[in-house]
Amino acid sequence: MDFESWWLIFLPLLFALGWMAARFDFRHILSETRHLPDSYFKGLNFLLNEQPDRAIDAFVEVAKLDPETVDLHFALGSLFRRRGETERAIRVHQSLLLRADLPDTKREHALHELAQDYLKAGMLDRAEAAYLELESTAYSVQAKRALVRIYESERDWSRAIEAVKQLGKQVDDLVPQRVHYSCEIAQKALEAKPPDLVVARQAIQEAQEVVDNDPSASTQASRARLLMLRASFAALEDDDEAQRQHLLSVLDQAPEYVGLMAQQLVTVDTRLTGKAIETLSRHYQLHPSLDLFQVIFKALRTQQNSETAWLFARDGLRAHPSLLGLDSLIEVELAQADRVAPEPDHSIDDRALNKDDLVLLRSVMKQHSQRLDRYTCHVCGFQAKRYYWQCPGCHGWETYRPRRLEESQ
Ligand SMILES: [Zn+2]
Repeated sequence: MDFESWWLIFLPLLFALGWMAARFDFRHILSETRHLPDSYFKGLNFLLNEQPDRAIDAFVEVAKLDPETVDLHFALGSLFRRRGETERAIRVHQSLLLRADLPDTKREHALHELAQDYLKAGMLDRAEAAYLELESTAYSVQAKRALVRIYESERDWSRAIEAVKQLGKQVDDLVPQRVHYSCEIAQKALEAKPPDLVVARQAIQEAQEVVDNDPSASTQASRARLLMLRASFAALEDDDEAQRQHLLSVLDQAPEYVGLMAQQLVTVDTRLTGKAIETLSRHYQLHPSLDLFQVIFKALRTQQNSETAWLFARDGLRAHPSLLGLDSLIEVELAQADRVAPEPDHSIDDRALNKDDLVLLRSVMKQHSQRLDRYTCHVCGFQAKRYYWQCPGCHGWETYRPRRLEESQ
């Protein structure tokens, strides 16, 4: 047989084989499709139309008819969890794990889903146990990230640090809040009764290493916190000069955060050089903040005289009008009025405003100013009277600016 005739036979044969293969595939698909219950397509349709409630009902029906559909159970469990029905999600994933015929990969998948269910349901102990089981599986990295979050929400800082270290061995994840974990340990040790200076010293050292080695952790907030912890440590060791030096460093390293420690600086410096007010006043010109304004104003009144304090306050309020600043002024003026007892028969006061006027003025202002006397999280809007390094609302780190709400408006 020459080449042309051989080709003439082979070509139709190829066509015939291709046609048969296509027909077989098509039939196979058709038969598979016929095996799927209608509820499955209904469920898909509801999903595509973003009607998860109805999709779940349809899929639950399919799962009842065909309990072997593992992937469908995963889809259902995930849908339940997303809708906040964590109990149902947990039941779906637990029932999968009970199957003896489940392959290892599916078992790990089910355990990972179950761990997420527990985490969402706030069952941290069970979530932790599930994630620990996943440590040497394909879900190892996700498990370690979740463990960091779990230990953080349990405020178990030592284990959170350990989890970050383990995570760092596998991926280059930046966990900038790691520096605050050490700061939290240091703060707790410093506030303990009696203070644990050994633990505090080590934790401060670790926090410093994080700041030095990880640029993402070296923020104004973390630097300020670290210096303030060092100052508190020095105070416990009765080392006024070291305390003053650490606090003065905040002026350069974290200028926006000076308001948080200004009172501490004034107090310690009064025993040393007495120059803190002057230094802080210069800083205020460059980085004005209400907290700093109030510290300087109070210090000027107590350590110098009313006139100097009033001059500072007048200039400050002229440059940065503030209800809270004005409120501080009136508060001090009222305290002064209390100290100077009025004459019993003094019917006409030669001052522009007498004490009753000031009380009235302050009570009117107070209604407005109190709302503004708050630190506010820029992520979730949680407001608080005191400053937090970690927001109690959204648990984000460094989400508070060291500014009162009035200054943010
Ligand atoms: Zn928040």
